[in-house]
Amino acid sequence: MRDETLTTVQDQTAPAEPRLGEEILAVSGLQKHFPVRKGLLQRQVAAVQAVDGLDFTVTMGETLSLVGESGCGKTTTGRLLTRLLEPTGGKIVFEGRDITHISLRAMRPLRRDVQMIFQDPYSSLNPRHTVGTIVGAPFRLQKVKTDHGIKRAVQELLELVGLNPEHYNRYPHEFSGGQRQRIGIARTLALRPKLIVADEPVSALDVSIQAQVINLLDDLQNELNLTYVMIAHDLSVVRHVSDRVAVMYLGKIVELAGRTALYERPMHPYTVALLSAVPIPDPERRTKRERIRLQGDVPSPLNPPPACRFHTRCWKAQEVCRTEEPPLVDLAPGHKVACHFPENQEAITVLPVGPVEEPVDS
Ligand code: SF4
Repeated sequence: MRDETLTTVQDQTAPAEPRLGEEILAVSGLQKHFPVRKGLLQRQVAAVQAVDGLDFTVTMGETLSLVGESGCGKTTTGRLLTRLLEPTGGKIVFEGRDITHISLRAMRPLRRDVQMIFQDPYSSLNPRHTVGTIVGAPFRLQKVKTDHGIKRAVQELLELVGLNPEHYNRYPHEFSGGQRQRIGIARTLALRPKLIVADEPVSALDVSIQAQVINLLDDLQNELNLTYVMIAHDLSVVRHVSDRVAVMYLGKIVELAGRTALYERPMHPYTVALLSAVPIPDPERRTKRERIRLQGDVPSPLNPPPACRFHTRCWKAQEVCRTEEPPLVDLAPGHKVACHFPENQEAITVLPVGPVEEPVDS
């Protein structure tokens, strides 16, 4: 019954279903600089380089995670992809269509295909609206008709995300944090989007609930062939749901690789440091890994360090790192790194080069 209504909605909203493994999103040279203005005339005196030249693609059905400390530009990237922000430079191509500077009006039908899950389930739901109104809003806004009415479609969505459909008339404050995030996910799924940008979907939740919501997103992906760009500040959160991971530092991607390659043999010193902070459940392996504590804070994106932006905190930095920016290049099949002196390079010659990406755990 649930699938019947959702299929009806999908039939009305999606003209052609892209096939799994096909490129759905291509980003090149993406930039977002926020101007800093001063004085009576509001002259621009500087710019915060939140995102500074990103290149990546996302294929249908995969999960690409963007990971980095706060201030690295990952959330800004998510907002650029969903066109909640206007890019300063570069290009965003969704399903072969350039949407970089698409108008709000032209973007409207595209909102069905590209949706966002927000970080904070408390502030992203209107406290004065019932769950039925909140989850049913996309149907009304996009003027989408459903076979058996909006109420029925909403109840089926609630069931899909593990909530009681009888709670249709309740208000957000009557739910726990995890349940509110489920409401947000149900609203996101209403129009069966092809691409979902999930901005730290579990970071505001209790640790005991985080795994449940991540598993729900994983299950929904398998069931509905969803494509995710998952944003997280912690590599451990996205480990089991990512197909590929892009590590960001000060507005740039410093490493982009398949999940196994990135977690087993990270090459960029920053990724190595981030991974050294991830707890290992196996006590035998725990002793073998040394925790790397990075010195200082992330420099200001107002005035990022020249050349390699990580050189002020990198224990391997040499003169060339301060004068020449390392390009993001393939050091192994599907494994891109931006570093003059990468780690774990020897491991590549020893380890058999198999498929870089492995299927997501079901
Ligand atoms: Fe460190 Fe140099 Fe590599 Fe930058 S380029 S991460 S400073 S070794």
